[in-house]
Amino acid sequence: MGEAYKLECGHCGYHTNVFVGIGFSYVYLHSIASFVQDVSLKKRIADFEKEPSTRYKAYDALYRCRACRAIQNELYLEMKSDNDYFVTSCCCRRCGEAMHPVPDDPRTVRLDCPECASGKLTATFYMDWD
Ligand SMILES: [Zn+2]
Ligand SMILES: [Zn+2]
Repeated sequence: MGEAYKLECGHCGYHTNVFVGIGFSYVYLHSIASFVQDVSLKKRIADFEKEPSTRYKAYDALYRCRACRAIQNELYLEMKSDNDYFVTSCCCRRCGEAMHPVPDDPRTVRLDCPECASGKLTATFYMDWD
């Protein structure tokens, strides 16, 4: 089950809702492939599905851009088999830099506000989702 948070900047009023964790549809690679939009990613998933040694991790993650502080909520998918490896990469929609998943609970790390220079984001849990 995943969790939804509202992130808010006390300084400029910026706010956004984010979803992190494992959704119901992430239980099978096949169901992940069914909602993925990217054609090449769909194909990669199909390749891994054919391979019996495949293990994978999938969850919704919060990504942060170290260059411009933008935040994006994206699917994190890592697939491993005996002869192949894949991990999703994510680029910042604002500046094009590679983004990194935020490893910690958004309630314990105070992220920089993407919109103003001095704000920090406060995370409030608002619901479970699946
Ligand atoms: Zn702000
Ligand atoms: Zn950026």
